[in-house]
Amino acid sequence: MTRSDNLDADVCSDAKRLLTPAAAATRVLEKLVRVAGVEAVSLGRARGRILRGPIAAPRSLPPFDHSAVDGYALALRASADDDTGFRLVGRVAAGQPMCGEVRPGDAVRIFTGAAVPAGCDVVVMQEHVDVSDGVVMPCRCYRAGDNIRLAGEDLPAGTDLLPEGTVIDPRHLALLAASGLSRVTVARRLRVAVISTGTELRAPGETLTEGAIYDSNRVMLLALLDHPAIETIDAGIVADDTVGIAAAIRRAAAGADLVITSGGVSVGEEDFVRGSVEAAGGYLTPIKIGMKPGKPLAFGRIGDACILGLPGNPLAALVGFMMIGLPLVSVLAGVPTASFREMRATASFARRVTPGRVEFAPACVTGRDAQGNPVVDALGRGGSARLMPLCSADGFCVIPADVEQVLPGDPVGYVPMDSLKLFG
Ligand code: AMP
Ligand code: MG
Repeated sequence: MTRSDNLDADVCSDAKRLLTPAAAATRVLEKLVRVAGVEAVSLGRARGRILRGPIAAPRSLPPFDHSAVDGYALALRASADDDTGFRLVGRVAAGQPMCGEVRPGDAVRIFTGAAVPAGCDVVVMQEHVDVSDGVVMPCRCYRAGDNIRLAGEDLPAGTDLLPEGTVIDPRHLALLAASGLSRVTVARRLRVAVISTGTELRAPGETLTEGAIYDSNRVMLLALLDHPAIETIDAGIVADDTVGIAAAIRRAAAGADLVITSGGVSVGEEDFVRGSVEAAGGYLTPIKIGMKPGKPLAFGRIGDACILGLPGNPLAALVGFMMIGLPLVSVLAGVPTASFREMRATASFARRVTPGRVEFAPACVTGRDAQGNPVVDALGRGGSARLMPLCSADGFCVIPADVEQVLPGDPVGYVPMDSLKLFG
Protein backbone atom coordinates (compact mmCIF):
# COMPACT_ATOMS: atom_id res chain seq x y z
CA MET A 1 0.00 0.00 0.00
CA THR A 2 1.49 3.33 -1.00
CA ARG A 3 0.41 6.78 -0.03
CA SER A 4 -0.87 7.51 -3.50
CA ASP A 5 -3.33 4.62 -3.50
CA ASN A 6 -6.17 6.41 -1.87
CA LEU A 7 -5.11 9.64 -0.31
CA ASP A 8 -2.61 11.84 -2.00
CA ALA A 9 0.27 12.82 0.22
CA ASP A 10 -0.45 16.43 -0.64
CA VAL A 11 -4.07 16.20 0.42
CA CYS A 12 -3.29 17.18 3.92
CA SER A 13 0.38 17.43 4.57
CA ASP A 14 1.83 20.06 2.30
CA ALA A 15 -1.12 22.38 2.17
CA LYS A 16 0.19 25.68 3.45
CA ARG A 17 -3.27 27.00 4.00
CA LEU A 18 -5.58 25.30 6.41
CA LEU A 19 -8.45 23.49 4.74
CA THR A 20 -12.01 24.33 5.63
CA PRO A 21 -13.75 21.38 7.31
CA ALA A 22 -15.86 20.77 4.20
CA ALA A 23 -12.82 20.92 1.90
CA ALA A 24 -10.93 18.58 4.21
CA ALA A 25 -13.82 16.10 4.16
CA THR A 26 -14.08 16.31 0.37
CA ARG A 27 -10.41 15.73 -0.12
CA VAL A 28 -10.29 12.81 2.31
CA LEU A 29 -13.28 11.22 0.64
CA GLU A 30 -12.76 11.91 -3.03
CA LYS A 31 -10.77 8.79 -3.83
CA LEU A 32 -12.51 6.42 -1.48
CA VAL A 33 -14.93 3.80 -2.66
CA ARG A 34 -17.52 1.89 -0.74
CA VAL A 35 -16.53 -1.48 0.67
CA ALA A 36 -17.57 -4.55 -1.28
CA GLY A 37 -19.75 -7.39 -0.04
CA VAL A 38 -23.47 -8.02 0.12
CA GLU A 39 -25.81 -10.38 1.89
CA ALA A 40 -29.50 -11.23 1.67
CA VAL A 41 -31.54 -10.54 4.79
CA SER A 42 -35.18 -11.06 5.68
CA LEU A 43 -37.33 -7.94 5.95
CA GLY A 44 -37.47 -8.45 9.69
CA ARG A 45 -33.71 -7.90 9.86
CA ALA A 46 -33.44 -5.26 7.16
CA ARG A 47 -34.18 -2.10 9.12
CA GLY A 48 -31.19 0.26 8.97
CA ARG A 49 -29.35 -1.88 6.44
CA ILE A 50 -28.12 -0.34 3.20
CA LEU A 51 -29.85 -1.48 0.07
CA ARG A 52 -27.74 -2.85 -2.72
CA GLY A 53 -29.93 -2.93 -5.73
CA PRO A 54 -31.61 -1.42 -7.49
CA ILE A 55 -34.84 -3.36 -7.08
CA ALA A 56 -37.39 -3.38 -9.89
CA ALA A 57 -40.97 -3.67 -8.62
CA PRO A 58 -41.93 -7.32 -9.21
CA ARG A 59 -45.62 -6.41 -9.45
CA SER A 60 -47.81 -3.35 -9.72
CA LEU A 61 -49.08 -1.60 -6.64
CA PRO A 62 -51.91 -1.96 -6.06
CA PRO A 63 -51.86 -5.30 -7.88
CA PHE A 64 -55.52 -5.03 -9.00
CA ASP A 65 -58.27 -2.42 -9.22
CA HIS A 66 -59.92 -2.30 -5.82
CA SER A 67 -62.49 -0.36 -3.90
CA ALA A 68 -61.48 2.52 -1.64
CA VAL A 69 -64.78 2.40 0.29
CA ASP A 70 -67.62 0.19 1.43
CA GLY A 71 -70.41 0.58 -1.14
CA TYR A 72 -71.73 -0.72 -4.44
CA ALA A 73 -69.79 -1.33 -7.63
CA LEU A 74 -71.92 -0.42 -10.65
CA ALA A 75 -71.63 -1.65 -14.23
CA LEU A 76 -72.85 1.34 -16.19
CA ARG A 77 -75.13 1.04 -19.18
CA ALA A 78 -74.17 2.45 -22.54
CA SER A 79 -76.92 5.07 -22.19
CA ALA A 80 -76.85 7.40 -19.21
CA ASP A 81 -80.38 6.41 -18.27
CA ASP A 82 -79.91 5.01 -14.78
CA ASP A 83 -83.37 5.78 -13.47
CA THR A 84 -84.18 2.13 -13.33
CA GLY A 85 -81.38 1.48 -10.85
CA PHE A 86 -78.94 -1.40 -10.79
CA ARG A 87 -79.75 -5.02 -10.13
CA LEU A 88 -77.77 -6.40 -7.18
CA VAL A 89 -76.07 -9.56 -8.45
CA GLY A 90 -73.27 -10.30 -5.99
CA ARG A 91 -71.05 -9.43 -3.10
CA VAL A 92 -67.26 -9.02 -2.90
CA ALA A 93 -65.12 -8.38 0.15
CA ALA A 94 -61.36 -7.99 0.58
CA GLY A 95 -59.71 -11.26 -0.39
CA GLN A 96 -63.02 -12.72 -1.64
CA PRO A 97 -63.33 -11.99 -5.34
CA MET A 98 -66.44 -12.27 -7.51
CA CYS A 99 -67.34 -15.61 -9.04
CA GLY A 100 -70.17 -14.71 -11.39
CA GLU A 101 -70.34 -12.35 -14.33
CA VAL A 102 -71.41 -8.71 -14.22
CA ARG A 103 -73.38 -7.14 -17.06
CA PRO A 104 -74.28 -3.51 -17.77
CA GLY A 105 -76.98 -2.45 -15.31
CA ASP A 106 -75.72 -4.76 -12.55
CA ALA A 107 -74.52 -3.75 -9.09
CA VAL A 108 -72.23 -5.66 -6.70
CA ARG A 109 -72.04 -5.08 -2.96
CA ILE A 110 -68.38 -4.25 -2.35
CA PHE A 111 -66.16 -3.56 0.65
CA THR A 112 -62.92 -1.64 1.04
CA GLY A 113 -59.97 -3.50 -0.47
CA ALA A 114 -62.09 -5.89 -2.54
CA ALA A 115 -61.19 -6.36 -6.21
CA VAL A 116 -63.59 -4.41 -8.41
CA PRO A 117 -65.37 -7.05 -10.52
CA ALA A 118 -64.64 -7.01 -14.24
CA GLY A 119 -67.28 -4.89 -15.97
CA CYS A 120 -67.86 -2.48 -13.06
CA ASP A 121 -67.02 1.17 -13.72
CA VAL A 122 -67.56 2.97 -10.44
CA VAL A 123 -67.99 2.35 -6.74
CA VAL A 124 -70.65 4.44 -5.04
CA MET A 125 -70.38 4.81 -1.27
CA GLN A 126 -73.02 2.93 0.68
CA GLU A 127 -74.19 6.23 2.20
CA HIS A 128 -75.02 7.50 -1.29
CA VAL A 129 -77.41 4.79 -2.49
CA ASP A 130 -80.87 3.52 -1.68
CA VAL A 131 -81.27 -0.22 -1.82
CA SER A 132 -84.59 -1.97 -1.94
CA ASP A 133 -85.88 -5.20 -3.43
CA GLY A 134 -82.47 -6.08 -4.82
CA VAL A 135 -82.19 -2.80 -6.73
CA VAL A 136 -79.48 -0.23 -6.03
CA MET A 137 -80.45 3.37 -6.78
CA PRO A 138 -77.66 5.98 -6.49
CA CYS A 139 -78.89 9.19 -4.83
CA ARG A 140 -75.81 11.34 -5.55
CA CYS A 141 -73.97 12.21 -8.75
CA TYR A 142 -70.98 10.03 -9.55
CA ARG A 143 -68.42 9.66 -12.27
CA ALA A 144 -66.87 6.54 -13.76
CA GLY A 145 -63.78 5.63 -11.78
CA ASP A 146 -64.97 7.13 -8.51
CA ASN A 147 -63.67 5.27 -5.43
CA ILE A 148 -61.65 2.81 -7.49
CA ARG A 149 -57.94 2.57 -6.81
CA LEU A 150 -56.43 1.48 -10.10
CA ALA A 151 -53.86 -1.28 -10.44
CA GLY A 152 -50.40 0.25 -10.68
CA GLU A 153 -51.48 3.76 -9.70
CA ASP A 154 -49.01 3.73 -6.81
CA LEU A 155 -46.27 1.93 -8.71
CA PRO A 156 -46.31 0.16 -12.10
CA ALA A 157 -44.53 -3.22 -12.25
CA GLY A 158 -40.90 -2.94 -13.31
CA THR A 159 -40.36 0.56 -11.90
CA ASP A 160 -37.38 1.11 -9.59
CA LEU A 161 -38.69 0.46 -6.11
CA LEU A 162 -35.86 2.01 -4.14
CA PRO A 163 -32.50 3.38 -5.15
CA GLU A 164 -29.28 1.65 -4.28
CA GLY A 165 -27.79 3.05 -1.09
CA THR A 166 -31.15 3.56 0.60
CA VAL A 167 -30.85 3.18 4.35
CA ILE A 168 -33.89 1.00 4.85
CA ASP A 169 -36.40 2.46 7.29
CA PRO A 170 -39.93 1.36 8.26
CA ARG A 171 -41.49 3.12 5.23
CA HIS A 172 -39.23 1.22 2.87
CA LEU A 173 -40.02 -2.04 4.65
CA ALA A 174 -43.73 -1.44 4.03
CA LEU A 175 -43.06 -0.89 0.33
CA LEU A 176 -40.86 -3.96 0.02
CA ALA A 177 -43.44 -6.09 1.82
CA ALA A 178 -46.30 -4.69 -0.30
CA SER A 179 -44.29 -5.76 -3.34
CA GLY A 180 -44.09 -9.29 -2.00
CA LEU A 181 -40.37 -9.27 -1.32
CA SER A 182 -39.46 -11.28 1.76
CA ARG A 183 -35.70 -10.74 1.51
CA VAL A 184 -33.51 -7.93 0.26
CA THR A 185 -29.89 -7.68 -0.74
CA VAL A 186 -28.00 -5.30 1.49
CA ALA A 187 -24.40 -4.25 2.00
CA ARG A 188 -22.57 -6.37 4.50
CA ARG A 189 -22.15 -4.50 7.72
CA LEU A 190 -19.28 -2.04 7.72
CA ARG A 191 -16.75 -3.04 10.35
CA VAL A 192 -15.44 -0.14 12.40
CA ALA A 193 -12.92 -0.59 15.20
CA VAL A 194 -12.42 2.04 17.89
CA ILE A 195 -9.20 2.36 19.90
CA SER A 196 -8.41 4.83 22.67
CA THR A 197 -4.74 5.65 23.04
CA GLY A 198 -3.20 7.15 26.15
CA THR A 199 -1.20 5.80 29.08
CA GLU A 200 -3.37 7.92 31.38
CA LEU A 201 -6.61 6.23 30.31
CA ARG A 202 -8.59 3.76 32.39
CA ALA A 203 -11.89 2.10 31.64
CA PRO A 204 -14.80 3.28 33.80
CA GLY A 205 -15.05 0.90 36.73
CA GLU A 206 -11.30 0.57 37.09
CA THR A 207 -9.43 2.25 39.93
CA LEU A 208 -7.86 5.57 39.02
CA THR A 209 -4.17 5.82 39.88
CA GLU A 210 -2.53 9.22 40.18
CA GLY A 211 -2.63 11.18 36.96
CA ALA A 212 -5.04 8.78 35.31
CA ILE A 213 -8.43 9.70 33.86
CA TYR A 214 -11.32 7.69 32.54
CA ASP A 215 -11.61 6.99 28.84
CA SER A 216 -14.66 8.83 27.60
CA ASN A 217 -14.00 8.75 23.86
CA ARG A 218 -14.33 5.05 23.20
CA VAL A 219 -17.84 4.66 24.58
CA MET A 220 -18.88 7.91 22.87
CA LEU A 221 -17.50 6.89 19.49
CA LEU A 222 -18.88 3.36 19.73
CA ALA A 223 -22.28 4.85 20.54
CA LEU A 224 -22.05 7.29 17.63
CA LEU A 225 -21.35 4.29 15.40
CA ASP A 226 -24.11 2.15 16.82
CA HIS A 227 -26.23 1.36 13.77
CA PRO A 228 -27.67 -1.75 12.13
CA ALA A 229 -25.43 -1.19 9.10
CA ILE A 230 -22.29 -1.16 11.22
CA GLU A 231 -20.47 -3.78 13.20
CA THR A 232 -18.53 -1.93 15.86
CA ILE A 233 -15.40 -3.46 17.31
CA ASP A 234 -14.26 -2.25 20.70
CA ALA A 235 -10.49 -2.48 20.39
CA GLY A 236 -9.87 -1.18 23.89
CA ILE A 237 -7.37 1.21 25.43
CA VAL A 238 -3.71 1.14 24.45
CA ALA A 239 -0.92 2.90 26.34
CA ASP A 240 1.35 5.44 24.63
CA ASP A 241 3.95 3.16 23.16
CA THR A 242 4.70 2.54 19.50
CA VAL A 243 4.97 -1.23 19.75
CA GLY A 244 1.70 -1.61 21.64
CA ILE A 245 -0.27 0.83 19.49
CA ALA A 246 1.14 -0.68 16.29
CA ALA A 247 0.08 -4.16 17.41
CA ALA A 248 -3.40 -2.96 18.37
CA ILE A 249 -3.83 -1.09 15.11
CA ARG A 250 -2.56 -4.00 13.03
CA ARG A 251 -4.95 -6.35 14.80
CA ALA A 252 -7.88 -3.97 14.46
CA ALA A 253 -7.15 -3.26 10.80
CA ALA A 254 -7.09 -6.97 10.00
CA GLY A 255 -10.74 -7.26 11.02
CA ALA A 256 -12.12 -3.84 10.14
CA ASP A 257 -12.81 -1.60 7.19
CA LEU A 258 -12.15 1.49 9.28
CA VAL A 259 -10.10 1.95 12.42
CA ILE A 260 -10.78 5.06 14.47
CA THR A 261 -8.26 6.03 17.10
CA SER A 262 -8.40 8.89 19.56
CA GLY A 263 -5.48 10.63 21.22
CA GLY A 264 -1.79 10.73 20.43
CA VAL A 265 -2.26 11.90 16.86
CA SER A 266 -0.36 15.17 17.07
CA VAL A 267 3.37 15.52 16.42
CA GLY A 268 4.53 15.81 20.04
CA GLU A 269 6.98 13.60 21.85
CA GLU A 270 4.10 11.75 23.47
CA ASP A 271 2.12 11.25 20.27
CA PHE A 272 2.64 7.75 18.98
CA VAL A 273 -0.21 7.03 16.63
CA ARG A 274 1.32 8.15 13.35
CA GLY A 275 4.59 6.31 13.99
CA SER A 276 2.65 3.25 15.12
CA VAL A 277 0.59 3.15 11.92
CA GLU A 278 3.80 3.36 9.93
CA ALA A 279 5.39 0.64 12.08
CA ALA A 280 2.33 -1.48 11.34
CA GLY A 281 2.87 -1.01 7.60
CA GLY A 282 0.39 1.79 6.89
CA TYR A 283 0.47 5.54 6.68
CA LEU A 284 -1.31 8.35 8.47
CA THR A 285 -1.32 11.86 7.06
CA PRO A 286 -2.17 14.87 9.23
CA ILE A 287 -5.18 16.79 7.99
CA LYS A 288 -4.47 20.47 8.32
CA ILE A 289 -7.95 21.60 8.99
CA GLY A 290 -8.89 25.11 10.06
CA MET A 291 -11.27 24.06 12.78
CA LYS A 292 -11.51 24.45 16.52
CA PRO A 293 -11.84 22.13 18.32
CA GLY A 294 -11.18 19.06 16.20
CA LYS A 295 -7.45 19.33 15.72
CA PRO A 296 -5.18 17.41 15.32
CA LEU A 297 -6.73 14.94 12.96
CA ALA A 298 -5.20 12.45 10.54
CA PHE A 299 -6.28 10.03 7.88
CA GLY A 300 -4.54 7.12 6.26
CA ARG A 301 -4.61 3.45 5.42
CA ILE A 302 -3.29 0.24 6.73
CA GLY A 303 -3.76 -2.79 4.53
CA ASP A 304 -7.29 -2.61 3.16
CA ALA A 305 -8.54 -0.59 6.11
CA CYS A 306 -8.85 3.16 6.41
CA ILE A 307 -7.67 4.78 9.59
CA LEU A 308 -8.96 7.99 11.09
CA GLY A 309 -6.94 9.50 13.91
CA LEU A 310 -9.03 11.77 16.11
CA PRO A 311 -7.80 14.10 18.83
CA GLY A 312 -7.87 12.99 22.44
CA ASN A 313 -9.94 15.77 23.93
CA PRO A 314 -13.51 14.48 23.95
CA LEU A 315 -15.14 17.57 22.44
CA ALA A 316 -12.44 17.71 19.77
CA ALA A 317 -12.89 14.00 19.06
CA LEU A 318 -16.63 14.56 18.71
CA VAL A 319 -16.31 17.52 16.35
CA GLY A 320 -13.66 15.71 14.30
CA PHE A 321 -15.93 12.69 14.05
CA MET A 322 -18.86 14.89 13.04
CA MET A 323 -16.96 16.67 10.30
CA ILE A 324 -14.82 13.85 8.88
CA GLY A 325 -15.93 10.59 10.50
CA LEU A 326 -19.61 10.76 9.59
CA PRO A 327 -19.08 11.43 5.85
CA LEU A 328 -16.26 8.90 5.81
CA VAL A 329 -18.51 6.17 7.19
CA SER A 330 -21.20 7.10 4.65
CA VAL A 331 -18.82 6.77 1.73
CA LEU A 332 -17.40 3.46 2.94
CA ALA A 333 -20.92 2.16 3.53
CA GLY A 334 -22.04 3.33 0.09
CA VAL A 335 -24.69 5.78 1.27
CA PRO A 336 -24.90 9.01 -0.72
CA THR A 337 -23.60 11.70 1.61
CA ALA A 338 -25.94 14.52 2.41
CA SER A 339 -24.34 17.92 2.60
CA PHE A 340 -23.71 19.11 6.10
CA ARG A 341 -26.74 20.77 7.65
CA GLU A 342 -25.55 24.13 8.90
CA MET A 343 -28.25 26.74 9.32
CA ARG A 344 -28.07 30.48 9.61
CA ALA A 345 -28.29 31.78 13.15
CA THR A 346 -27.73 34.92 15.18
CA ALA A 347 -25.36 35.12 18.14
CA SER A 348 -26.63 36.35 21.48
CA PHE A 349 -23.16 36.31 23.04
CA ALA A 350 -19.83 38.08 22.81
CA ARG A 351 -16.59 36.16 22.45
CA ARG A 352 -13.09 36.66 21.09
CA VAL A 353 -12.09 33.83 18.77
CA THR A 354 -9.02 32.58 16.91
CA PRO A 355 -9.19 33.92 13.37
CA GLY A 356 -8.47 31.46 10.57
CA ARG A 357 -10.37 28.60 12.19
CA VAL A 358 -14.03 27.78 12.12
CA GLU A 359 -15.05 27.36 15.72
CA PHE A 360 -17.66 24.89 16.86
CA ALA A 361 -18.98 25.99 20.23
CA PRO A 362 -21.58 24.03 22.17
CA ALA A 363 -24.62 26.31 22.19
CA CYS A 364 -28.21 26.64 23.29
CA VAL A 365 -31.02 28.05 21.19
CA THR A 366 -32.51 30.94 23.16
CA GLY A 367 -35.07 32.22 20.66
CA ARG A 368 -35.66 33.22 17.04
CA ASP A 369 -34.47 36.28 15.16
CA ALA A 370 -36.62 38.43 12.83
CA GLN A 371 -36.04 35.96 9.97
CA GLY A 372 -37.06 33.02 12.15
CA ASN A 373 -33.49 31.73 12.43
CA PRO A 374 -32.27 30.46 15.79
CA VAL A 375 -30.65 32.86 18.22
CA VAL A 376 -27.84 30.95 19.90
CA ASP A 377 -25.86 31.37 23.07
CA ALA A 378 -22.45 29.70 23.27
CA LEU A 379 -21.98 27.71 26.46
CA GLY A 380 -18.85 27.67 28.58
CA ARG A 381 -15.81 29.68 27.58
CA GLY A 382 -14.46 27.28 25.01
CA GLY A 383 -12.13 24.40 25.78
CA SER A 384 -12.11 21.15 23.94
CA ALA A 385 -11.77 19.06 27.09
CA ARG A 386 -15.05 20.19 28.60
CA LEU A 387 -18.00 17.87 28.54
CA MET A 388 -20.52 19.81 30.62
CA PRO A 389 -21.25 22.56 28.03
CA LEU A 390 -21.57 19.84 25.41
CA CYS A 391 -24.10 17.95 27.49
CA SER A 392 -26.33 20.97 28.04
CA ALA A 393 -26.11 22.16 24.41
CA ASP A 394 -28.82 21.97 21.77
CA GLY A 395 -26.16 22.01 19.08
CA PHE A 396 -23.04 23.78 17.90
CA CYS A 397 -22.70 27.45 17.11
CA VAL A 398 -20.42 27.72 14.09
CA ILE A 399 -18.28 30.84 14.29
CA PRO A 400 -16.86 31.71 10.89
CA ALA A 401 -13.09 31.56 10.35
CA ASP A 402 -12.81 35.18 9.22
CA VAL A 403 -13.81 36.91 12.44
CA GLU A 404 -11.80 37.86 15.51
CA GLN A 405 -14.74 38.36 17.75
CA VAL A 406 -18.41 37.68 17.87
CA LEU A 407 -20.86 40.26 19.19
CA PRO A 408 -24.54 39.87 20.02
CA GLY A 409 -26.53 40.15 16.79
CA ASP A 410 -23.71 38.83 14.58
CA PRO A 411 -24.52 36.18 12.01
CA VAL A 412 -23.19 32.72 12.89
CA GLY A 413 -23.97 29.17 11.83
CA TYR A 414 -25.77 26.55 13.83
CA VAL A 415 -25.66 22.77 13.65
CA PRO A 416 -28.26 20.96 15.75
CA MET A 417 -26.99 18.12 17.92
CA ASP A 418 -29.16 15.63 16.03
CA SER A 419 -26.83 16.10 13.04
CA LEU A 420 -24.53 13.80 14.95
CA LYS A 421 -26.07 10.74 13.45
CA LEU A 422 -24.93 8.40 10.78
CA PHE A 423 -26.35 8.62 7.27
CA GLY A 424 -28.28 11.70 8.40
P1 AMP B 1 -3.87 13.80 23.14
O1 AMP B 1 -4.64 14.02 21.90
O2 AMP B 1 -3.40 12.41 23.32
O3 AMP B 1 -2.73 14.81 23.25
O4 AMP B 1 -4.84 14.08 24.35
C1 AMP B 1 -5.38 15.37 24.58
C2 AMP B 1 -6.13 15.37 25.88
O5 AMP B 1 -7.23 14.51 25.77
C3 AMP B 1 -5.32 14.88 27.06
O6 AMP B 1 -5.67 15.65 28.18
C4 AMP B 1 -5.78 13.46 27.23
O7 AMP B 1 -5.64 12.98 28.57
C5 AMP B 1 -7.22 13.56 26.83
N1 AMP B 1 -7.71 12.31 26.30
C6 AMP B 1 -7.09 11.53 25.40
N2 AMP B 1 -7.82 10.46 25.11
C7 AMP B 1 -8.93 10.53 25.88
C8 AMP B 1 -10.03 9.69 26.06
N3 AMP B 1 -10.17 8.55 25.38
N4 AMP B 1 -11.00 10.07 26.94
C9 AMP B 1 -10.86 11.23 27.64
N5 AMP B 1 -9.84 12.07 27.49
C10 AMP B 1 -8.85 11.71 26.64
MG1 MG C 1 -2.09 11.52 24.65
